[in-house]
Amino acid sequence: MECISCGARIDESKYKDVHYSRYSQMNYKLYHCDNCDIEFWVPLEFFEDIYKKFYAEETMDIYSAYFEMFVDKENLFSNLYETQKSFLKEFLAILKRDIGGGKVLDVGCGKGEFLAYMRREGFEVFGIDLDGSSLEIGRKLFNLDNLYEMSLDEFVEYAEREGLRFDLITFFEVLEHQVDIKGFVNKVKRILSPRGYIGGSVPNRNRFLGSFTSKLVKSFTLGDFPPHHFIMFSKVSLEKFFENVGIPCKVVYSKFDVFSQQRDILHVIYSFVGKLFGKILPNFNSFYYSSYGKLGFVGSIFRSILIFFFGITSFFLSILVSLFFIWKPKVLIFFSERRV
Ligand SMILES: [Zn+2]
Repeated sequence: MECISCGARIDESKYKDVHYSRYSQMNYKLYHCDNCDIEFWVPLEFFEDIYKKFYAEETMDIYSAYFEMFVDKENLFSNLYETQKSFLKEFLAILKRDIGGGKVLDVGCGKGEFLAYMRREGFEVFGIDLDGSSLEIGRKLFNLDNLYEMSLDEFVEYAEREGLRFDLITFFEVLEHQVDIKGFVNKVKRILSPRGYIGGSVPNRNRFLGSFTSKLVKSFTLGDFPPHHFIMFSKVSLEKFFENVGIPCKVVYSKFDVFSQQRDILHVIYSFVGKLFGKILPNFNSFYYSSYGKLGFVGSIFRSILIFFFGITSFFLSILVSLFFIWKPKVLIFFSERRV
């Protein structure tokens, strides 16, 4: 078998891990490339229906309702994900200087938080996503017009027909979902203007608690496995990948985020103590969504005390972690080097 990034030979009998997915009802094997350090699950096969179900129904429904309630239409920066904030803090000045007013395309734009912010910064914004209901929220909340419920394939065709070229194409937490990462970037290239930039983020394989949570609390981190995530990047492998596809990128660590770290620590705590308390504690099905069993008055008070206690504990633990593991944040941010 050939490495999906550098093409080096990988021995098919030497896999690192096996994962059975109840979503696709398939077995996956994890391979590591000794040459470029990338890791990927095989078979690399995309199921649009599973993908849509997982993100639209299982994880996002409650999250969307919450979002509509708390979205801040004045301070658009506050609606962004931590990784997008980190990205903009590092690179917005360069983008405004080099392509201010240019066209931005966000692949996997969701509800369009990033696009709404970029439009206010003076860019002309476009977004695509497979989740139509998220796009609907984006149109309603931010009055975004150029949102398309299309795959990248469909949109590239559309853009080429319309003669659309982009000065910045972003994909935050998208690349790790792809089953053909080289093909993905090659499609992006087709609609990128000759001096355009790419940018975005992927999960950091070497994040604090990363392999620990993956192995010990697999049921809580299913989103990090195939058929959702296929590619696991380290900083080195991400740099090498963009070199291999001809768009060299600068890769930086995101800022250490205490609150998202706290969520991970809570996952670990609940996975061990949750079983003892049955339906009293939240049942984390995935990384966003939690559901509570119904309880009487006394039970509810007991639950509040437990949640408060674990909340405080995990918060202080995450502060400790952020002090001692600052080089192991959850996300890698990339931005293409200036092209001439
Ligand atoms: Zn490789």
